Amino acid sequence: MDWKRKHILGLSDFLPDEIEFVMDTSRSMEEVLSRDIKKVPTLRGKMVVNLFFEPSTRTRTSFEIAGKRLSADVVNFSSSGSSQSKGETLLDTARNIEAMKPCILVMRHNASGAARFLSRHLSCSIINAGDGLNEHPSQALLDLYTILKVKGKVAGLKVAIIGDILHSRVARSNIHCLGKMGANLWLCGPATLLPREMARTGATLTNDIREAVKNADVVMTLRVQSERQKATFFPSIREYFRMYGLSNNIFSLAKDDAILMHPGPINRGVEVTNDLADCGRSVILNQVESGVAVRMALLYLMAGGAHVAD
Ligand code: ASP
Repeated sequence: MDWKRKHILGLSDFLPDEIEFVMDTSRSMEEVLSRDIKKVPTLRGKMVVNLFFEPSTRTRTSFEIAGKRLSADVVNFSSSGSSQSKGETLLDTARNIEAMKPCILVMRHNASGAARFLSRHLSCSIINAGDGLNEHPSQALLDLYTILKVKGKVAGLKVAIIGDILHSRVARSNIHCLGKMGANLWLCGPATLLPREMARTGATLTNDIREAVKNADVVMTLRVQSERQKATFFPSIREYFRMYGLSNNIFSLAKDDAILMHPGPINRGVEVTNDLADCGRSVILNQVESGVAVRMALLYLMAGGAHVAD
């Protein structure tokens, strides 16, 4: 298959074949990462700029490592300490960075649609690393990669996504990605954080965590996005945990070989207990590991896909 996309802004318009292609390319990247020398010259001479206007631990580091493993020059920009604090607009900042000739801009912003907005004004490629509550495509692709690696398939699996669905870009991208790949999706959270219109995605909605987790193959808990909550959506954190926190008791309703996922950062004792986050069936760190291979694949495809093997 030929890769035709200039930008990766979200997964809503991705075709299953494209998702498969990213998975295949990620497997080649994982092979590179298993070598003694985990670096190939594929993106030599190309510049990748990480333009992050919101905090990030995993995504920014992972894109940086991915770029370096492919020999790109990687530059990290964060809004603190930049001219944003002096009143420069997003577009001016981005145009100035573009004048320094990056090949790919990886960007995170708190406004939904920010990546699409810049893609209309800049000529370099853009990868959306999270825009407000809209999409986080590389997270969903690495989640799919992790599921495929552990379970061997995703079609027909019951995947329960639990928590603050309303404010989660991870949930939105995963609904597109896992849904297109044939997962049986269940969305669960308090009524205030579970928009009814999500039923249009084909997922089953429930406010009962027991029903969502029962016989699930994959249980994905989400962080409560307090920074995006402008109102009170539940009485207290303690109440939230009692109703929607994942404990051993609840997780035992899932299949015996079910896996537990979380995009991070985890709030231990809020969306998942301490013990469960670190248990043998938690693949939370496997997700982080998959992230490097998947982001290498995305950078590689966006930069034009030269030969990886050399
Ligand atoms: N790291 C993910 C994101 O940026 C999930 C989260 O922050 O809860 O969306």
